[in-house]
Amino acid sequence: MNASLKIFTEIDRLRSSMTMFLQRLVQFPTLPGEEQAAQHFLADKLRSFHCDVKILKSEFSALQHHPAFSDDGVSFDNRINVVGTWKGTEPTRSSRKEREPDSRTRSLILNGHMDVVPIGNPALWKFPPWSGAVENGKLHGRGACDMKAGLTAAVFAIEALHNLGFQPRGDVLFESVIGEESGGVGTLTTLIHGVRADAAVIMEPTRLRSCPVHAGALSFRIKISGRAIHASMKRFGISAVEKFQQIFAAIEALDRDRHQHYENKIFEFNDNVAPISIGIVTAGDWLSTVPETLVAEGRFGVFPGETTASAREALANCLEKVSAADEWLKTNPPTLEWFEGQFEPGQTSFQDPIVEALSDAHSAVMGAAPKVQGVPYGSDLRLFTEHGKFPAVLYGPGDVAFAHTVEEFVELEEVFACAKVLALLVTEWCGGEFIAR
Ligand SMILES: [Zn+2]
Repeated sequence: MNASLKIFTEIDRLRSSMTMFLQRLVQFPTLPGEEQAAQHFLADKLRSFHCDVKILKSEFSALQHHPAFSDDGVSFDNRINVVGTWKGTEPTRSSRKEREPDSRTRSLILNGHMDVVPIGNPALWKFPPWSGAVENGKLHGRGACDMKAGLTAAVFAIEALHNLGFQPRGDVLFESVIGEESGGVGTLTTLIHGVRADAAVIMEPTRLRSCPVHAGALSFRIKISGRAIHASMKRFGISAVEKFQQIFAAIEALDRDRHQHYENKIFEFNDNVAPISIGIVTAGDWLSTVPETLVAEGRFGVFPGETTASAREALANCLEKVSAADEWLKTNPPTLEWFEGQFEPGQTSFQDPIVEALSDAHSAVMGAAPKVQGVPYGSDLRLFTEHGKFPAVLYGPGDVAFAHTVEEFVELEEVFACAKVLALLVTEWCGGEFIAR
């Protein structure tokens, strides 16, 4: 039997264990700060096939001065990350610079996050959010696709290879991190601890598309002042809501304009690469008073290749322009503040060897090359590419369109296929051989 057939057969044999494992993972309500039990469960699983497991704590004191750190407000009590190492037979090259381009001995990180976002209104869920219920080949629940399915696929890719007596030449590293949804504290912790490889795959839900590029996102707050007056005297006051309408229209125009100027070759939708969106608006304090203040908070998309500084400047200029054209705003300009999440874009070249190796592995399993594209949402990829200085690509089961919704699910067939692709990728990327057992 050739190597890939062996791998496919072994992963098919593990289908029901994989389904049960994923179901169990979904049953842990791993909201931010509450991932410990699931992390220990996963660490035990890795130990069961003799992976060397390290528990890395995310600690504020170690993170606070890193330029990519953004405090997510979650307590740093017992926030743990799991790093499993399957040692290769050859010494690991710890950075890209030292990498020999034609080497078949390369290390690989398989990274996924254990944290999930809140469930929203529980009454809206058809399947209970922490059930992992399976129906018609789909597994449902919070975290099913984002991204416990990806974690499961990677764990079983490693287990299958281990069962088959495979011995990698380069190190295979598995990371289950916390804090991804709120800014990447977990993956940043692994980098600060010096965990590195020649490339990383992050098993985010990409529908098994290969996504080496993502846009960035910056949180902002705009404060607009008006002049309060009794609502019956409205004509003589200045409504902060009316002033916001002008500003909102200008921001919408800026969003369209920025997309028109971006030459898109890699994203699915030309007009949705790095959107600007206002998420929270609060104004006024009394229904019959003309509102004196309005606060709008939103996220400002950053295009790949754009610096966060120039993105910030674009919004500042936009506000200045609106203000200059308005009598009131000219003397009472809105204030702009950048706060909390400040996530830069991340990119790996479409021609990078890891992208090509992943395409080959995908083709061998699926019979056709994967779509290679950029995604509009931020992820931990930027931490690897911009701060770890090694290439990374997003690739995993599930559709991000259902992530964070009350319908979150994953197709189990995609999970099994992903496990096969990852196992094959490990053999090709890290090198190694099947030793008779
Ligand atoms: Zn995710």
